[in-house]
Amino acid sequence: MIELAPYAVTEANSRGRKIAEAAPNTRSEFQRDRDRIIHSNAFRRLEYKTQVFVNHEGDLFRTRLTHSIEVAQIARSIARCLRLNEDLAEAISLAHDLGHTPFGHAGQEALNACMKEHGGFEHNLQSLRVVDLLEERYAGFDGLNLCFETREGILKHCSAANAAQLGELGERFLKGRRPSLEAQIANLADEIAYNNHDVDDGLRSGLITLEQLATVPLVAERLLEVRSAYPGLPERRVVHETIRRVINVLATDLIRQSESNLAAQGLATLDEVRSAPAMIAFSAGMEVQQRELKSFLRHQLYRHYRVLRMSAKAQRIISDLFGVFMADSRLLPPQYQSLAEHDRPRAVADYIAGMTDRYAVREHRRIFAVEEVSS
Ligand code: MG
Repeated sequence: MIELAPYAVTEANSRGRKIAEAAPNTRSEFQRDRDRIIHSNAFRRLEYKTQVFVNHEGDLFRTRLTHSIEVAQIARSIARCLRLNEDLAEAISLAHDLGHTPFGHAGQEALNACMKEHGGFEHNLQSLRVVDLLEERYAGFDGLNLCFETREGILKHCSAANAAQLGELGERFLKGRRPSLEAQIANLADEIAYNNHDVDDGLRSGLITLEQLATVPLVAERLLEVRSAYPGLPERRVVHETIRRVINVLATDLIRQSESNLAAQGLATLDEVRSAPAMIAFSAGMEVQQRELKSFLRHQLYRHYRVLRMSAKAQRIISDLFGVFMADSRLLPPQYQSLAEHDRPRAVADYIAGMTDRYAVREHRRIFAVEEVSS
């Protein structure tokens, strides 16, 4: 096994679990975190939650499950190269989207709007709520009782008001400190993964074309390489060959730039990582190119009228459901009724956020469709 860098997260410098447990016999603490995440209900539900395209649109589009696996793959490669804790980077990546609502960003916006007067809804915080509280599987505790560093990595953003409620975990947002390098890697691996698979899914759906993408320098350069090296290559192979090269260029740039940042800063410990500026970063040139790709996707794909139509439908489903459960909490399943006794809006948000796309559609039909009254 390769020796970890002195500033990597290790079991020795970990702040441990909220509830102390005996050390695992055959795996590391962070492998145990990863395994708990994989065995959770919320993880399995990711299979039926949307990224951009609604889940039933086609079998080849990404879901949050395949997205999370792609993030973990990229994060592990980067972590290993930088001699950081690969198991931790993997655990954070697999858990980072556990709190996502059905219907992707449209769902998150709709639920946040419903919760406006009740503290709002933020998927990062919800991921933390899932692993800290909502999973009911273990005899000794609620949630998954994950290590501090895994939870810290899951909480990517947080408002000052929310941070103030989170104790040790919220501190860094109030003091302007950084999370571990492994968390920084998972964050950027997320960006690399979704920019590239959204290009792939966008092309597959026909909502964007290769000609349009040829206006984005990061993609155009690789597209040209592929077309000149393999004239006459079928279109689907051109797409995949181009995307794999974009991922490779981004990951390699990130590794090189981060190595040089770390060398320049001369960090010796994990504590120093937390008080230093962000070390995991793209080079300035690549940062610009990556932003151009993001902005292309925002304008050409995420705001495409067909995507917006799906979003509008999703928003209606979520706000209808929210309204009906807020008006009468007896319609909630028993687990959420007891949560609703303390905080009805939060219990309703927990229930809705946990739904898959198709469950939300079915639940909406069960409650609102007159012809289904007998079922
Ligand atoms: Mg993500």
